[in-house]
Amino acid sequence: MSLANQVKQAFRNAFNEEPAFIVRAPGRVNLIGEHTDYNDGFVFPLAIDRAAWIALRPRADKRLLALSLDMQDQREFALDDLRRPAEVDWDGYLTGVAWSLQERGYALNGWEGVISGDVPIGSGLSSSAALELAAARAFYCVSDFEWDAAAMTLTCQRAENDWLGVNCGIMDQMISAAGVEDRALLIDCRSLETATAPLPAGTAVVILDTGTRRGLVDSAYNERRAQCEAAARRFGVKALRDIDLPTFLEREHELEPLVRKRARHVISENARTLKARQAMDRGDADLLGQLMIASHLSLRDDFEVSSPALDAIVDCANADAACYGARMTGAGFGGCAVALVEADEAPAFSERTAANYQAATGHDPALYVTKASRGAETVYAAG
Ligand code: ADP
Ligand code: MG
Repeated sequence: MSLANQVKQAFRNAFNEEPAFIVRAPGRVNLIGEHTDYNDGFVFPLAIDRAAWIALRPRADKRLLALSLDMQDQREFALDDLRRPAEVDWDGYLTGVAWSLQERGYALNGWEGVISGDVPIGSGLSSSAALELAAARAFYCVSDFEWDAAAMTLTCQRAENDWLGVNCGIMDQMISAAGVEDRALLIDCRSLETATAPLPAGTAVVILDTGTRRGLVDSAYNERRAQCEAAARRFGVKALRDIDLPTFLEREHELEPLVRKRARHVISENARTLKARQAMDRGDADLLGQLMIASHLSLRDDFEVSSPALDAIVDCANADAACYGARMTGAGFGGCAVALVEADEAPAFSERTAANYQAATGHDPALYVTKASRGAETVYAAG
């Protein structure tokens, strides 16, 4: 049964009525542009065909009642008396979005509903942003405000940063809000301007979950951010986005060796990401694949955020004749890689790569052939 039908059926069971609305918001995978978002740079994700779904109806009493099928749990809140959770739990994403919307001046009505999703949790495909945007969309359905993708992006990011205390950039929420079917989305993380580009004809995107999870990722992330900020300060600019490659090559001797490597990744990655747009506009799968391979090497050697499992799965993918290019995706140290492959070969590629990776490492991978999907939307509205 599809997730749409599952949440609908569970809604009927819980509330003895048809839902008034069904909404969904997708997870994402980043094709290229890694660790560039907090340097005001460029990222190039696509919304995947896995999403958080909510079937709901309005409530007149400004309360929120949510049933999570995945957590087998139920929570209720008053929208005018929200409490910041002591530790992050699934309902914190809902109260966080409600808090953040109200902070920005949106007048909210309440709702009750059933939530379920098929974005794997904690594997770097951003199940959290999917849940946030689905919650925002649910509030939009029962309240009286305009849906603006950039405003919803900032609101949901703030929920994650300031309500849940999770330090994340803007990419996850933006792509979940603004994804476009069959297109990747180039995002300028400074201006939040976006441009869509089609995947090269005859290609498919495969997500390769190493089956390993990141440890110590927060401290490493904060350390990388500090190193990037140090490089920008040294160059006298607001962010590394403001330095292009020729300028960097002229001035790199001004940086100490480790900071120089970090900066070289970010600056070269921004250049690769802009080049990836040209590759996509020309339908050049070979060039796009080469850029992805170069991105991985830069993340591995200069930014040092890969892991043995990520390197192994990327090597297995790149060794396959059907693969144009593969790289780690997300923050790193575990989680997922992404590959651009020949569409016809995608299922066979996935089987071969999973077997080779498992033989090489002993880890259990999960591979998904994915499709670029639409961002947050109302799938059904009664009457
Ligand atoms: P990810 O990389 O998947 O975004 P996070 O740790 O940022 O990992 O977010 C995962 C958390 O988001 C889960 O632990 C849970 O609290 C919440 N979450 C995500 N999807 C769902 C869902 N379908 N139902 C309930 N909670 C969810
Ligand atoms: Mg997350």
